[in-house]
Amino acid sequence: MTNPIIIWFRRDLRISDHVALSKAIETGRPIIPVFICDPIMEALGAAPKWRFGLGVEHFAKTLAALGSRLILRRGEPLAELRDLIRETGADTVYWSRAYDTDAIARDRVVKAGLQNDGIDAQSHQGHVLFEPWSVANKSGGYFKVYTPFWKTVRGRQVDACLPAPKSLSPPSEWPESDTLTDWQLGRDMRRGADVVSRYICVGETNAQARLDAFLDDAIGDYQRERDFPNKPSTSRLSENLTYGEISPRMIWHSAYVAMQKGAQGGEHFLKELVWREYAYHLMYHFPALADQNWRSEWDTFHWLPDNENAERWRRGMTGEPMVDAAMRELYITGTMHNRMRMIAASYLTKHLRTDWRVGRDWFADCLIDWDPAANAMGWQWVAGCGPDASPYFRIFNPATQGEKFDKQQLYRKRFLLDDTRAEYRAFFAAIPKSWHITPSTPYPEPAISLADGRKAALDAYAAMRGGV
Ligand code: FAD
Repeated sequence: MTNPIIIWFRRDLRISDHVALSKAIETGRPIIPVFICDPIMEALGAAPKWRFGLGVEHFAKTLAALGSRLILRRGEPLAELRDLIRETGADTVYWSRAYDTDAIARDRVVKAGLQNDGIDAQSHQGHVLFEPWSVANKSGGYFKVYTPFWKTVRGRQVDACLPAPKSLSPPSEWPESDTLTDWQLGRDMRRGADVVSRYICVGETNAQARLDAFLDDAIGDYQRERDFPNKPSTSRLSENLTYGEISPRMIWHSAYVAMQKGAQGGEHFLKELVWREYAYHLMYHFPALADQNWRSEWDTFHWLPDNENAERWRRGMTGEPMVDAAMRELYITGTMHNRMRMIAASYLTKHLRTDWRVGRDWFADCLIDWDPAANAMGWQWVAGCGPDASPYFRIFNPATQGEKFDKQQLYRKRFLLDDTRAEYRAFFAAIPKSWHITPSTPYPEPAISLADGRKAALDAYAAMRGGV
């Protein structure tokens, strides 16, 4: 049988450890790699959409080096795949499974439609270590708390990684392809792509190098150092994981080997990696995770809708230096250190009592590592309305967090306080004129006193619990 197999690539822009691709290669048939800019991609925020496009561009080059191509199409995936099947004679479509709500809905439609047409449509594992339905609590339900989830999976066997192919069998004739420039994926980057470009790390080879560097230099001290935002102590692999430029299996096995060689922080690192799994587990079992409070009692909480202080938060002008430095890190680099995400999110949802979905949306617009499940879980966790949430009365105090995790103010200087620093200057060059912020704009007084904000938050929480 020589009909080609279509591999529909999505958030799996790699050739190594790619189950669907390996299965297609095993058949010996020609392979047509395809990427579709679909409505889910069109709806992405500015930074992740732009960064995704760079990943696709890079991946097309990787495939070209294997004697293959990446065919680009734009539109509804089922219609686009049907067109390609008609044009190429393909009778099989493989892809890597996705676990976020929108992608699951899309893939169900595609699978049912193709199978109805008599096409062999198969989804394969690749984006997670543990399928969400394969981890259950004692009563067969899903885990509402992280630690037992972790204890259940930590000793599990994870299949070995698959090798990268050396070449891919091309079809006798290639179908037509869009060009990436037509898609204009960077169009919404108001701050200009060149600012964030300095901080990105695109593609499979670079992701692997990033992992190697982390294993060589940082994993040993990971547990002790990971909370200090100015230290290069975490892997920064979230950017690559979200586009599938590296597989979680690759990271899992590499960290295991490092642990066996004595890397102290290995276990803790794997535990963090599994938080990502947990986010998919939650979203799979509670598909409304990105939009609705996981704890329904929170539906009566008096969140403030978007407001003036939230705008100050987005602009890094709340007058709280730890929060503002974090928001500037986000705007300039497209990422934010995990501890700073917690501090910034806590400040917005607690001191400013603003609806967590306001913060969710800004992160979704700015993060180059934006992930539908991890972002939703992170916001709900900090706000207090999610599973295994940080209790509402745990309110991060940005000042004491600064004392503890940025004692020398190195992080705050880098992004907010020291006008000789590149990141400080990049912020002023990047922001829209409509923000009316220049280097000579005085740094503002705090939007709210920390004590008043904390009290108002606790009062609102008490009112919710008292049913007021
Ligand atoms: P490392 O410390 O090196 O950890 C290794 C990997 O484990 C990460 O790359 C990531 O895939 C995973 N991981 C670590 N911590 C978490 C966590 N708390 N939740 C889920 N996975 C985790 N992460 C995203 O990937 N995308 C998001 O959109 C996102 N939004 C967030 C929003 C909020 C409000 C919060 C509090 C957290 C969010 N996180 C998100 C989780 C976390 O902040 C990032 O995964 C982490 O900062 C990435 O840095 P790293 O790769 O150096 O992580």
